Amino acid sequence: MLMIEQAEIDLIKKRWADFFDRYDYESDINRLRERYPDERSLYISYKDLSSFDIDFADNIRKDPVTYLSVGEDYLKTYIGRTREKISRLNIRLKDIPERNFKYEIRNVRSTNVDTFISVTGIIRKNTEVLPRLDIAVFRCPNCGSIISETEYYRKMNEPAKCDSCNYHGKFILEIDQSTFIDTQKLEIQENPDTLDGTSQPQRMTVIMEDDITGKIFPGDRVTIYGILKADQKFIGSIKLTEFNIFLYANNFKKETKDFEDIRITDEDEENIKKLSSCPDIIDRLSRSIAPSIYGLEVIKKALVLQLFGGVRKVLKDGTTIRGDIHILMVGDPGTAKSQLLRYMTSLAPRSVFAFGKGSSAAGLTAAAVRDDFGEGRWTLEAGALVLADNGFAAIDELDKMDQRDTASMHEAMEQQSVTISKAGIMATLKSRCSILAAANPKFGRYDVTRTIAEQIDFPPPLLSRFDIIFKLVDTPNKDNDSRLAEHILMTHRIGEIYRSIENTNINIDIPDEEKYIPEIDKDLIRKYISYAKNRIFPRLSDEAIRILREEYVNTRSSGVDSIPITARQLESTIRLAEAAARARLSSIVTEADALLAKSIVDYYLKDVSAI
Ligand code: ADP
Ligand code: MG
Repeated sequence: MLMIEQAEIDLIKKRWADFFDRYDYESDINRLRERYPDERSLYISYKDLSSFDIDFADNIRKDPVTYLSVGEDYLKTYIGRTREKISRLNIRLKDIPERNFKYEIRNVRSTNVDTFISVTGIIRKNTEVLPRLDIAVFRCPNCGSIISETEYYRKMNEPAKCDSCNYHGKFILEIDQSTFIDTQKLEIQENPDTLDGTSQPQRMTVIMEDDITGKIFPGDRVTIYGILKADQKFIGSIKLTEFNIFLYANNFKKETKDFEDIRITDEDEENIKKLSSCPDIIDRLSRSIAPSIYGLEVIKKALVLQLFGGVRKVLKDGTTIRGDIHILMVGDPGTAKSQLLRYMTSLAPRSVFAFGKGSSAAGLTAAAVRDDFGEGRWTLEAGALVLADNGFAAIDELDKMDQRDTASMHEAMEQQSVTISKAGIMATLKSRCSILAAANPKFGRYDVTRTIAEQIDFPPPLLSRFDIIFKLVDTPNKDNDSRLAEHILMTHRIGEIYRSIENTNINIDIPDEEKYIPEIDKDLIRKYISYAKNRIFPRLSDEAIRILREEYVNTRSSGVDSIPITARQLESTIRLAEAAARARLSSIVTEADALLAKSIVDYYLKDVSAI
C-alpha cells in the first residue's frame, strides 16, 4: 500500500521519534504496554502535533494513511521492547481543530479522498459489530511455509507467490492463526439545523473499527474524525469507474450539550432578554407563528408553549418524568394542519418532519432490519422520533401509522426511549422529543357527534399520551369564511412572487400589513427557544400549585366523557405552566402561568367533549 520510498518512511519515523521525545506521552505509552491487548489505542493531541511541527501536522492531515501507519509501526517497536508481539496498535487523533478539517457532508469531494477530515451529523443507522480478518495467515500448499498479510477494509490481500518455493496460485487461509478485528458500519446524516429546510439531508457511510466500535447508536449527534476513502463500485466482478466514498473513522466525539448548534452572541442575548421582559411575550410569540394561517389562536399559543416545553425531572427512585409536550390535531381536510406542521418544523430547533406511514423500514420509532446497507448484517435504523431526540418531531397523517409502530409509540412518547431486541441486537435508543401530530378522521370528515377516540383508529392509551388534542372542524360560517378568505387573499397579494419579472411590482397599499408578517423574526425565536431551554428550569410556586390542584379536582368532578381525566392531565397542565414560565425566562411558575395552562386545557377539554 505504501508507494513511497523507504528513505521517506525512515524520515517520517524519525519525526515521530522526535515527537515522542519532546512531548510527554510516556505514561499513556506505559499504560498501553501494561494493558495491551485490552487497550490498543494511543490518543495524540493534534494541538501537540501542530506545536511540535506545523508541517508535520499538516502532512498527517494530507496523507494520514502513510503518516499514521508509520507512527503506529514506530510505536509497535517502541512498546515491543518489553513485549513479544504487537499485531495492532492505533494512533487516534484528538483536539482536532475545525479549520481545514471540518466539512459539511454535502461538500465532501473526491479531492478530499485519502485526507483526514471531520463531519458532524446525526447517526441514522448502525450495523451490528462483527469481526473481519485483520491479519490473514496463509500456508503455501506446496512447501508449507507461512505468509502473513495485513488486510484492509474490504480488500483481501492474497500472497502473489511463495517466497520460499516460488509457488504461484491459491494459498490456504489458516483461520486459527489469523487475527480478527471488530468492524461496524454507520450512516451519518447532516444535521437538519445546518440545512435551509428545503433540501434533503445528505448521508455518508462511516466505518468504525477495533476499540471504537459499538459506542455510537442511531440518534446520537456526533462528530466523526477520519480518513475519507473511495471504494470502487462493482457490478458482479466488473469494476466500474464510479466510486463510493466512506469515512474510515479514527476518532469521534459525541455531542453532550442539548442545543449547542445554535450560536447565541452577546447581542442576541441582549435582544432575548429585552423580548422576555415584554408583558405579552407569549401573545407576541404566538402571533409570530405562521402569520399566513388565519385564526387558531389557542392552538398557536399551545404551540408556543410546546416549543419551550416543561421541565424533565428525575425522581428520587430514578424514574424520569418527561417535560416535552405532545400535541395532536385531528380534523377536517383543508384546515391548515399540514401547513402548521411544516411551519413548526422550520421554526423548532432540531426538528424532524415525517409522515405516519414512513418511507423507511424504521418507521416512526426504530427497527432492526437486514438490508443492503448492512451487507447481510443486521442494521439498526432510527426513525423520526429517535432522530428528533432532544428536539421536535412533526408527524403528519398519524392515522396512517404502521401497526408495527403503534406498540413502540407508547414507550417512545412516555419513557421517551425505543427498545429494540432482535437477533442479537439489544439497544435502547432515546426519543426525548416533543411531538406535534396531525390526523385525519376515520370517516373523512370530523363528526361532531362522535368522540375523538371513535374517529381515529388509535388505541386509547396512545391517545392519552398526548397532552392536548385539538379538533379542527371546517363548518361553513359566513363571517368567519369571509375573514379567512380575506386573510388568504392578502397573504397571496403580499407574498413575494417567485419569478418576479421586472416592472410587475406595482405598489399596492395593504392595510395592516404587519398582520401578515411575523412580529418577531424567526431566527430570533429559534435563538430565544434554545436560550430558554438551556438555561431556564422553572419550579412551581405555592400559588401555581393551588391553581393546578383546583383545576384537576374540578375537571375530574365535571366528568368529561370522551376523555378520561386521569393524573396524566394534571401532569400535562404542569408542563404547560412550566413552559409558560420558561417563555418568560422566569425560574418560578407563577399564578399567571398556571392560569394560562388552565385556560388551554379547559379549551381543549371543552373542545373535544363539545357535542
Ligand atoms: P390539512 O393538512 O388540514 O388537510 P393543509 O394544511 O394542506 O390542510 O391546508 C390546505 C390549504 O388551505 C393550505 O394552502 C392552507 O394554507 C389553506 N388554509 C386552510 N386553513 C387556513 C387558515 N386558517 N388560514 C390560512 N390558510 C388556510
Ligand atoms: Mg394534510
